[in-house]
Amino acid sequence: MNITYQSTRGGERGLTASQAILKGLAVDGGLFMPDQIPQLDVSMGQLAKMSYQEIAYEVMKLFLTDFTEEELKGCIARAYDEKFDCPEIAVLSKADGDYYLELYHGSTIAFKDMALSILPHLMTTAAKKNGVSNEIVILAATSGDTGKAAMAGFADVPGTRIIVFYPKGGVSRIQELQMVTQKGDNTAVVAIHGNFDDAQTGVKKIFSDREFEKRLAAKGFQLSSANSINVGRLVPQIAYYVYAYAKLLENGEIADGELVNVTVPTGNFGNILAAYLAKRMGTPIGRLICASNENKVLYDFFSTGVYDRERPFILTSSPSMDILISSNLERLIYLSCGCDAEKTAGLMEELSRDGRYAVTEDMRAFMADFWGGYADEKENASVIQAVFRSCGYLMDTHTGVAAAVSRQYKRETGDERKMLIASTASPFKFSGSVLEAIQGRLDGGDEFAVVDELSRISGVPVPAAVEEIRTALVRHTRECSPEQMEEEVADILGC
Ligand SMILES: *Cc1c(COP(=O)(O)O)cnc(C)c1O
Repeated sequence: MNITYQSTRGGERGLTASQAILKGLAVDGGLFMPDQIPQLDVSMGQLAKMSYQEIAYEVMKLFLTDFTEEELKGCIARAYDEKFDCPEIAVLSKADGDYYLELYHGSTIAFKDMALSILPHLMTTAAKKNGVSNEIVILAATSGDTGKAAMAGFADVPGTRIIVFYPKGGVSRIQELQMVTQKGDNTAVVAIHGNFDDAQTGVKKIFSDREFEKRLAAKGFQLSSANSINVGRLVPQIAYYVYAYAKLLENGEIADGELVNVTVPTGNFGNILAAYLAKRMGTPIGRLICASNENKVLYDFFSTGVYDRERPFILTSSPSMDILISSNLERLIYLSCGCDAEKTAGLMEELSRDGRYAVTEDMRAFMADFWGGYADEKENASVIQAVFRSCGYLMDTHTGVAAAVSRQYKRETGDERKMLIASTASPFKFSGSVLEAIQGRLDGGDEFAVVDELSRISGVPVPAAVEEIRTALVRHTRECSPEQMEEEVADILGC
């Protein structure tokens, strides 16, 4: 079966998977979607016996149908190797009655590694398949984790460059240090005087500037995206939900076919959309609980059917979820109106013009699998503390949002199904907030003193990714306003 990709806004259709991965974003500003959602063609019983890499292949082969078996298995083998600190790649931990799916065992200790360790391989394979000779320039806007994970993936990959924009003051100190110390001659980092949405909007604007595209092409460059709008990120993320279910089954935690609910700490809606696609492919998943922090635009959307980004942008202790324009929601919108590209384009036009849109009752009914909730800073800290005190399990502030919302969900609905919680970052990436949550206060001391204290009281060793930035040299000092992003790119590339 051959799957092709089309823009959610109708401007492009009939692309192969490799073409969609190379482009990242469609020229009309839409996101690429497969023309159908394939069904898993092996049983959960069979999947239960497989390794992470084997399951990733079973999932990805169904979407990336123009990649050969050899190409895809090669990409998977190079991505999911010793860069991860455990052979399972993703770890299931049971704590306080819930299952935490730890997605942070890769090289930058955030779940972004799950997709960004394979994207460079998918992209260079796609470039070869399509006879691309230009150098591929990856532009990424980051709320903290994507930038580092993308650079770690693309650093020194021949034929590629990567430029990352992050909001100055909008990421944790550890996140910032991880980025500005990045090695690799093909990497560049720019701090934006603005928030994440400014950075993301700026990147999207550069992508849709045809004049700029020509200017770059004249110098042998072409742009692509490593943000979660790229299908090359979405598809690998589906694999770990299938894997989690298969492992719960193998470990005797669930019966075959038993529905499991999933809570995902959500920002750009990529991770939870992957869980939804895993469900649509045949994984027995019940409700999808969308957990937001105080930037609760998605909670409001699921409770009212109105998406309204006109509100203050709040900086929280879960910065990777500080987002008001949740890009991947467009893919759910598209599915919910029967893949009506005109309808989707109209709603997105309303969003950029009026800052809001409302979906129809039919579209809302289509989304009934989703349940939205949000946690404020206090609820977040209190669940991190409660779980640590009850069983010694340490979680980061993003996972804390999910844990708090999963409890709300159970309270409000009485749904007693087993709960899988996506755990998206190592607690050491947000040591200050985590230590403060556990102790109820934070004594002074620099970032690394806090890291050491967290390690001491939890008995969890400091991850290598944090150790290595203790003494690393700052290599990137560029800053600019959101309006100057395009010129900054030109300057970096020497165009
Ligand atoms: C990116 C990120 C999220 C949000 O994921 P989306 O796919 O953007 O919804 C949550 N937690 C952490 C730690 C992240 O890095």
